[in-house]
Amino acid sequence: MAIQQKLSLMIPGPTPVPEKVLQALSKHPIGHRSKDFQDLVEVTTKNLKWLHQTKNDVITITGSGTAAMEAGIISTLSKGDKVVCGENGKFGERWVKIAREYGLEVITIKAEWGSPLNPKNFKKILEEDKQKQIKAVILTHSETSTGVINDLKTISSHIQEHSKALSIVDCVTSLGACNVPVDDWGLDIVASGSQKGYMIPPGLSFVSVSEKAWEAAKKSCLPKFYLNLKSYKKSLASNSNPYTPAVNLVFALDESLKMMKEEGLENIFARHNRHKLAVSSAIKALNLKLFADEEHLSPSITAIETGEIDAEEFRKTIKNKFDILLAGGQDHLKGKIFRVGHLGYINDRDIITVITAISNALLEQNKISTQEVGEALFAASKHLNIN
Ligand SMILES: *Cc1c(COP(=O)(O)O)cnc(C)c1O
Repeated sequence: MAIQQKLSLMIPGPTPVPEKVLQALSKHPIGHRSKDFQDLVEVTTKNLKWLHQTKNDVITITGSGTAAMEAGIISTLSKGDKVVCGENGKFGERWVKIAREYGLEVITIKAEWGSPLNPKNFKKILEEDKQKQIKAVILTHSETSTGVINDLKTISSHIQEHSKALSIVDCVTSLGACNVPVDDWGLDIVASGSQKGYMIPPGLSFVSVSEKAWEAAKKSCLPKFYLNLKSYKKSLASNSNPYTPAVNLVFALDESLKMMKEEGLENIFARHNRHKLAVSSAIKALNLKLFADEEHLSPSITAIETGEIDAEEFRKTIKNKFDILLAGGQDHLKGKIFRVGHLGYINDRDIITVITAISNALLEQNKISTQEVGEALFAASKHLNIN
């Protein structure tokens, strides 16, 4: 029987929350117009810039990751603007829907679910746009629905050659998991959310905004109010917020950013890479198939094909027997894949445990022998800090 309090979240958000962060959440709220709160915003803003590796403004919004992306889109664009959207999974689809909802003219660049977007397709469309009609390129860096990481660095370089178009990027499961150097890569708008790599419960989202994007914001005339980034910029000048922010989540943010700084960016990226390699190599040893192209695996999530096994039943078994919550497949992938989240507050022990749990469930169904269990753990441990 499962022990509810010990449930391990190995889904791509919400992710586990460290004790220190939980304690910060439980403090009594303070006034959001107080000097204390302003001091807090000053520090968290500084540390957010550190995390984003940027000098750009980084704005905190009360809302989930989708709010951050929507804010970026509607604060910089106008009705009828032509935009290019990269679409190779559920989140890519969502940005197309939002863009269309606001009356933008959308050109999609697609790839099969499980494959990465081809940067050459972006290069071609942008080069052919001699009149500079394309106002933005919208895409997802780490496509959580399939476990694919897109080549954002190369795509961004093509956008910069075009010179007019803004990049509006969903980095929700890449920021805080792998290198996203916002300034080096010249990213204009980068969106992320608290319940992912930040190790905080859901409720906050973040948007970094370049000078070029602020210029575009001056001309933007899509309808907006709560998510108008210009209002946030104005308030940020005095370390404030236009509306009542989720004060306690900002306490949590302060704590989690301090933890991240203590660990250091390089170590955080190395840990996620290690876990990605450990999980993917174990999965292969267990004779299961990775859903995503192996050279383009996301650092934060691994999608696994289950073949004739019902992936939903399999997830249920893992949850009931081991108190580990795994994610299912979305849309047409439901029942066909399951996804292991290894994002945020995850350590090597969590990885060993989830591999053992998956092995045990396969063993019970006579899909593998004990030899493969040993091989999977051996394959994983080569990548972990335990050998
Ligand atoms: C979680 C996630 C989001 C944000 O979803 P919300 O439910 O709005 O927080 C956006 N993009 C990706 C790739 C995600 O994984």
